[in-house]
Amino acid sequence: MHYRISLMLVSATLSAVLLAACATVPETGRSQLQIVSPAQETQLGFQEFEKLKKSTPISKDAAANAQLQRVGKRIAAVAPLPNAQWEFVLFDKPDTPNAFCLPGGKVGVFSGILPITKDDAGLATVVGHEVAHAVARHGAERMSQGAVFQILEELALGRSSPATRQVVQQAYGLGFALPHSRQQELEADHLGVLYMARAGYPPREALGFWKRFAEYKDKHGGGKQIEFLSTHPLDEERIRQIEGLIPQAEMEYRKP
Ligand SMILES: [Zn+2]
Repeated sequence: MHYRISLMLVSATLSAVLLAACATVPETGRSQLQIVSPAQETQLGFQEFEKLKKSTPISKDAAANAQLQRVGKRIAAVAPLPNAQWEFVLFDKPDTPNAFCLPGGKVGVFSGILPITKDDAGLATVVGHEVAHAVARHGAERMSQGAVFQILEELALGRSSPATRQVVQQAYGLGFALPHSRQQELEADHLGVLYMARAGYPPREALGFWKRFAEYKDKHGGGKQIEFLSTHPLDEERIRQIEGLIPQAEMEYRKP
């Protein structure tokens, strides 16, 4: 009897916590679990970015750097990321076709993606997609889910462990340790194609990028060692969704 009451108490408390911890993603309206505050995740983003800048070579290619600054500025102008301190850094990693945006507007692009993005619109597709992950707070969502699973597991096993730090590291450790879920990927595509249109890039160009990316994946066998391929699985669903969003995005497209 006593056991049942305490279990009910735990379950009621947990429900209340989860209810209070619900947030809504702008524009898609999806409800998500968030137990990490924007200020906390921004702080983590800044810390991780500083570490990465110290440990990874930064590209000296003037033209490529100028392109990233030009495209980044235009995406930043339309992305609803309050209190962002925007920074766009091109890392010199020719074998890494990847990019990320940490909370607080810290964007990293690895030079290995540039042969696939090809032009400004291609790069806007990638930057728009990554910035959308940050606007929708996907990293904090993964961290929140990880923390709740951890709490549940500890309750179930009747033990406690210093695992919270590990969860934080997994969610933000260079941003890649845990792949985004399929749902988060599709959401980033959705928001990203709207951002690129609002920033003045023809939204149809997003399809061009993802098709080139598919060709790259075919050529390289979709190797798991390439981060962008493993964390950004390309599938027909992605292309189909973007095609469905083109009419709305074209209405919002403003020629610069
Ligand atoms: Zn993604």
